[in-house]
Amino acid sequence: MNNREKYEAVIGLEVHAQLKTASKLFCGCSTRFGDEPNANTCPVCLGLPGALPVLNRNAVLMAAKAALALGCQINPVSLFARKNYFYPDLPKGYQISQYDRPFAEHGVVQIDTAERDAHGRPLQWQQKTIRLTRLHLEEDAGKSIHDGSGGLSEGASYVDLNRAGTPLIEIVSEPDFRSSWQAYDYVQYLRQTLQYVDVCDGNMEQGDLRCDANVSVRLKGSDQLGTKVEIKNLNSFRFLQRALDYEIERQIAVLESGGQLSQETRLWNERENKTVSMRSKEYAHDYRYFPEPDLPPLVVHPEWVARLKAELPELPGARRRRFVRAYGLSFDDATTLTATRPLADYYEAVVKQGIQPQTAANWIISELTFLLKSAEQEITQCRIKPEELAALIKLIERGAISGKMGKTVLQQMFNTGQPAEQIIEAQGLKQVSDPDRLQPIIESVLAAHAREVEAFRAGKEQLFGFFVGQVMKATKGQANPQLVNELLRRLLHGDGE
Ligand code: ADP
Ligand code: ZN
Ligand code: MG
Repeated sequence: MNNREKYEAVIGLEVHAQLKTASKLFCGCSTRFGDEPNANTCPVCLGLPGALPVLNRNAVLMAAKAALALGCQINPVSLFARKNYFYPDLPKGYQISQYDRPFAEHGVVQIDTAERDAHGRPLQWQQKTIRLTRLHLEEDAGKSIHDGSGGLSEGASYVDLNRAGTPLIEIVSEPDFRSSWQAYDYVQYLRQTLQYVDVCDGNMEQGDLRCDANVSVRLKGSDQLGTKVEIKNLNSFRFLQRALDYEIERQIAVLESGGQLSQETRLWNERENKTVSMRSKEYAHDYRYFPEPDLPPLVVHPEWVARLKAELPELPGARRRRFVRAYGLSFDDATTLTATRPLADYYEAVVKQGIQPQTAANWIISELTFLLKSAEQEITQCRIKPEELAALIKLIERGAISGKMGKTVLQQMFNTGQPAEQIIEAQGLKQVSDPDRLQPIIESVLAAHAREVEAFRAGKEQLFGFFVGQVMKATKGQANPQLVNELLRRLLHGDGE
C-alpha cells in the first residue's frame, strides 16, 4: 500500500440555493435578474432605519417543498436570527438568517454516484446515503462590482443591491462524502431535485446555486475527524470537483511531510488550478448571532406540511428507476431522459401515443436532443409537440417515409413547427410503396444496365447492391427499400412476369 492509499477524504457541503419567488424574502421588491443596478430596492432591502421586514409566504412554501423533497423534517416553530458582519453590499450590517432553530433538519437523500476515469467517464454507479444536517431560510446580500467594466470608472467599486434580500435556502450536509465525485454528484442531485419541485432555476452562472466545501483527510479506519479547511464560493461543478481533488492531495502532502494542517478558509484560483489561503481561524468571523426582534417565530402547521408532502411530484431518482423498470431502458438512457421534469414528461407523452419505449428514447436522445442543442433550446421551447414526434415515428413505421427521410422531416418540423404529414405532402416526400408504380421504374433501370443484368445472372451476385442504388437514385430516395429488394429479386431472377 503506498502512502496515498492510507488516507481518506472527508467532505461536508454547504449549498446556497436561490428560491425562484417573484419578490424578495422580506419586502415586495422584484427578484428579476439583470435589471438596471439598484432598480429593485426599497427601504426594507436598503436597510433604512425603521423599515420592517415582512416574511414572503411563497418563500416559505418553496423552502418547505425543498425540505420535504430532501427528506428533512420541518420544525413546527423556527426562528430568524441576525448574523452580524460588515460588508459594503450588506446595508443593514447584518443578514437575516436562521441559527439555532432552523426551518428544517435531519434530512436523508440517496444519491447515485460514480468515480470517473481519466476522461471523466463514470465507472461504476452506486447508491450512497447522505445525511443533511439542516436546511434554513436566509436573505442574500447585494453585489459589489470592482472591475470598472460596462461604462463604470476604472479602479472604482460599485454596489448593486438588486440581489439584497432575495430568498435563499442554505442546505448543510453532514461530512458524509469520501471523494470529490461524490460531492459533485450530490450537488447535481440537489440541483435536479430543486428543479423538479420547481423552487430553484439551478443556473450556476447566474449564481442560483453556490457551494462552500469543507474538507479534511484522515487515516483510513479512523473515526476521528481531521482538521477541516473550508473552500468558499465554488460556482461551478467543475471547480467544485477540481478544488476538492487539489485540496485533498495538498492536505495529504502536508501530513506526509510531517506537517500539521490549520483550520482556515481557502479560495479556488481557477487560473492557477489551486486553492489559496484567504483567512486563518484567528480571523474567523464572530457573527454575534441573536434572535431577530422584528420577526415573529415562523410557525408551520403539521397538516399543511402533510398536504405538501402528499403533493410532491415523483423525484428524479425514483423516476429514473421507474423508467428502467417500466420501459426497459438502460440506466444511462433513463438518466438522460429524467434529467429535467419537462424532458421526462415529453418522453412519457410520446410513449403514451403508442410508440415503443426504446424507439421513443432513441429519437429523443439522439435526434431531438441534437436539434435542441444546436439551436440552444430547452425542451420546453421545442416546437415539435410529443404527439407530432409520435406521428412522425408512426409514418416511418408504416413505411410512408424511410427512416433516413424521417430525420430530414424532423429537422423541418423543428424549424417550421409544421406537422410531419404536412411537410411530407407539400414536398412530395412520400415513400413509393406501390408496386405498380415501382415496377416500371425498376424495369427501365434494368433495361439501361443490360450488361450488368447479364453478369448478375451469370453469378455476379454482388451487383445486387448496385441495382438497389440505381433504383433509389431514379426515385430520389423515395422508393420503399424493402419493396425495391423484393421486386428486384423477382425481376432479376426472371420470374417477374
Ligand atoms: P463551522 O462551525 O465551521 O461552521 P460546522 O460543524 O457547522 O462547522 O460544519 C460546517 C460544514 O462542515 C458541514 O457541512 C459539516 O459537515 C462539515 N464538516 C465539519 N467538520 C468537518 C471535518 N472535520 N471535515 C470535513 N467536513 C467537516
Ligand atoms: Zn425591497
Ligand atoms: Mg456551522
